[in-house]
Amino acid sequence: MIQRIKAKITGRVQGVGFRPTIFRYANFMGLLGGVKNTSAGVEVEVQGENAIVERFFMKIKESPPPQARIDHITFEELPVTNMPPFSINQSLPSAEPSLVFPPDLALCDQCRVEIETPSNRRYRYEFTNCTNCGPRFTIIRDLPYDRAFTSMSVFSQCQECESEYSDPMDRRFDAQPNACPNCGPKLVLVDASGNVQNGDPLLESARLLAAGAIVAIKGLGGYHLACDALKPEVIAQLRTRKNRPHKPLAVMFASIDQIESNCQVTENIRRELSLPSLPIVICRRLPASLLPDLLSPDTPDVGVMLPYTPLHHLLLAEISPLVMTSGNFSEEPIVRDETELKRILGPVADYALCHNRPILRTCDDSVIKTSDFGNVVIRRARGYVPDVCQLPLDGPSILACGGDLKNTFCLTRGRQAWVSQHLGNISDYASFLAYQHQVTDWKSLLEINPRYLAYDMHPDYHSSRWAQTLGQTGLPVQHHHAHIAAVMAEHGLQEKVIGVAWDGSGYGLDQTLWGGEFLIASYHGFLRAGHLKPLPLPGGEQAILHPARMAVSYLFDLLGSDWGTQVHNSLPSLTSYEKEHLTALLQSAYPFPVTSSAGRLFDAVAALLGFDHTLTYEGQAAVRLQALAEQSEKSLYSFEISQNGKSRILDFKPMLHELLRDLKTHDDRARMAMRFHRTLAGAISRMCVILAAEHHLDRVVLSGGVFQNDLLLGLVRTELVQNGLQVFHPRLFPANDGGLSLGQAVIALAAIANPATTHPQRTVPCA
Ligand code: ZN
Ligand code: ZN
Ligand code: FE
Repeated sequence: MIQRIKAKITGRVQGVGFRPTIFRYANFMGLLGGVKNTSAGVEVEVQGENAIVERFFMKIKESPPPQARIDHITFEELPVTNMPPFSINQSLPSAEPSLVFPPDLALCDQCRVEIETPSNRRYRYEFTNCTNCGPRFTIIRDLPYDRAFTSMSVFSQCQECESEYSDPMDRRFDAQPNACPNCGPKLVLVDASGNVQNGDPLLESARLLAAGAIVAIKGLGGYHLACDALKPEVIAQLRTRKNRPHKPLAVMFASIDQIESNCQVTENIRRELSLPSLPIVICRRLPASLLPDLLSPDTPDVGVMLPYTPLHHLLLAEISPLVMTSGNFSEEPIVRDETELKRILGPVADYALCHNRPILRTCDDSVIKTSDFGNVVIRRARGYVPDVCQLPLDGPSILACGGDLKNTFCLTRGRQAWVSQHLGNISDYASFLAYQHQVTDWKSLLEINPRYLAYDMHPDYHSSRWAQTLGQTGLPVQHHHAHIAAVMAEHGLQEKVIGVAWDGSGYGLDQTLWGGEFLIASYHGFLRAGHLKPLPLPGGEQAILHPARMAVSYLFDLLGSDWGTQVHNSLPSLTSYEKEHLTALLQSAYPFPVTSSAGRLFDAVAALLGFDHTLTYEGQAAVRLQALAEQSEKSLYSFEISQNGKSRILDFKPMLHELLRDLKTHDDRARMAMRFHRTLAGAISRMCVILAAEHHLDRVVLSGGVFQNDLLLGLVRTELVQNGLQVFHPRLFPANDGGLSLGQAVIALAAIANPATTHPQRTVPCA
C-alpha cells in the first residue's frame, strides 16, 4: 500500500549534514517527496510503499549523521498525491522555534587528510571544514542556520566550492562555512605595532614561537595567547604580562602520542580527546615529563588538548607543545576581534596571527576532568554550547542571571534550557558589559523574550543588581539551593533530596555567608538541615585572599586568645603584630562577617600545613591540599555533630586539635592532608545518614566548587554508597558557580508553577 507521511524532527539537526543524509536514504529507497530546514528543526515528507517508508524512518533513527542528535519526531499521515522525486527544499521560518543548532566541532579526519595531501586543492589550507566539522556557534548571526546568516556571508564561494555546496551527494553539501584557498578567509601575521610581516604567516609564527615569542592566535571562539610550552622563561614572562601568577595554563600537543609521553593517559582521557568537542582534559603529569612545573605550580595535574582547527594542526606540526591560554588579561573578557586585540597586542603578545573570518561570539575552551565515576565538566563552553538541557518542569520563559564568578546565564523555553558559554568573573567592568551583550545576543538568537528573571540573593552581585533594574518580575534564589537544583535538573530528579552544597561562599537566608550546607531540597524550597559551624572571617574579603587569617579564626575558636602561645612557628605569612591585632579583634567580638564556608576550612587547614601565602585564584589552597594528600593514609580525625534547634552543626574543632598535635609530633603533611580529606568525607557521610533516616530520603546530591576536588568527591561517594544512599553529582554542568544559572531557572519555574508553596520574593524553607 502507498503511504504519504510528513515528519517533523527536532534536536541537533541543522549544520550537521542531516538533510543530505535523508536525501541519500530516500533516493536509495526510491521514495518521493522532500526535506527542508525550518527554524524548529527539519521537516520531511515522503511517499512510497508503507514497508519502505517505515524502513526509511527506522534508518534515520538508527543511523543519523555522526554529529546529529534526534530529540523528537512527530508523524502525520497525508492523502496520497502526485509527488515529485525526492529533493532538498528551501529553508522556511517557523512560528515556534525550538531549534538545537550545533556547537563548534573539531576538524574531522577526512578534512585533516585533505590538508595533509599535497595534491588536494585544500592542501595546507587553514580554514578547511565540512558538514561534519568546523565553526558553527561562533559564526551564526541568526537562525535558521544558513550561510547568509553567518559571518561567512562576506566570502562568496568560488565555482568549485559552490558546486560542492550544492551537491547533495558531496560531504560539503550545505556546509555553511565551506571555503578554499581561492575564496575563503586568509591569515595575516602582524607585530606589536600592527605591521604586517612578510612570509607565510603560519610558518613565520612557528619560527617566532620557537625563538621565544608570545603570539596571539585567532581561533574559533576568540584569541589564544601561545608560547613554547617547554621554555620556562617564556612561560614566566607570559604569566607576568597576563597577570596570572599561578593559575594553571593549558597546553596543546600535536598528537596523543606526544601527550602520552608527558602525561598519564587513561582510556577515559583518550575518549574525551577523540570527541568532536575536543576539550581541555586535566591529566596527571608523568615524572619524566618535559613540561615545566611553572605550567601548574600548585598541582601535578595539567590541562592538555589537541589541535581542533586546521590552523592548529598545521601550526602544531611545526612546533609542539604550545601553551594555549585565553587571550585576555586575567579576569577580562577574551579578545574576539582586531579592535579588541589592541588590548593585548604589545602589552602581552609580541605578534598576532589574525584572519578575516569574523568571530560573532566568544567561546572559551571547555575543561573536563575524568574520573573512575564519570567525567565531569569544569568549564562548559566550546563543543558543548549551545546544547540544550531538557528540564523536568515546564513554564513561561525565564532568564536566570547566574552568579558573579564563573558566570553563565540560562534562558528557557518550555522544557528546554540553554546555559550560556562560560563567561568568567563579571565583577570587572569590561566583563560586565560583555555579559550584558551576551544576554542580548542569546535572547535575539533564540528569539526568547523572558517573562521572568531569576538571580542570586546576594545584594552585591552585579548580576543581581542588574536583574533588578530590568523592570520585570524577578525571583531571588538562594545560592546553595541553586547549586543543588541544577544537579537535580541535570539528572531529571523530581523528588526531595539531601543536598550537600559545599563551596567558597554564597549569601544565606540569615544574611551570613554560607558554604558548608546540608539542605533538604526540592525545586520549591529547602530546609537548612545542617551546616558547618559558622566562624568569623577576620577582615572579610582579606580573609578570603589570605588563608592564614582564616586559620587564626579557627585557632581562636579552638584555643582562645592565647592560641599563639600554644601553636608556635605557624602562619609565618602573618607578622606577630597582625596575629595579635586579629586576635584582639576576635576577642572583642568585632562584627566580622560570619561564614559556614567549607572553602574557608580548606584555606585554614592549608595555611596550617604551610601553604599560607596570598591566593591568586579561587580554590588555590584546596588544589594544594589535594595535591599534597597521599593516598596511603586510612585513618580519620574526629569531628562533632550537634543539634541547634532544627539545624545540625558540623564542628571540626576536634579535628583541628588532633591536627595541631600531629604537627607537633611529626611532619608528614601528606598524611595529614589525606586524613583531612577522609575526615570531611566521613563527616559528610555521617550527616547524610542522619538526615536520610530523619527525613526518609535516600538520594544525596553533591554540588558546589568544593566537589571539583575529585579526591574528596570519590571518598564521599564511596562512603555514601556503602551506607545504601544513591549519589548524584554534576557531570554536564559545572559543580562550581557555572552551574548556578540552570538551578536558578528551574527553581523559578517551580515557583511560578506553584506560587502557593513558594513566597514570590524568596526561596523559602520547604516543609
Ligand atoms: Zn570535515
Ligand atoms: Zn573556493
Ligand atoms: Fe557557589
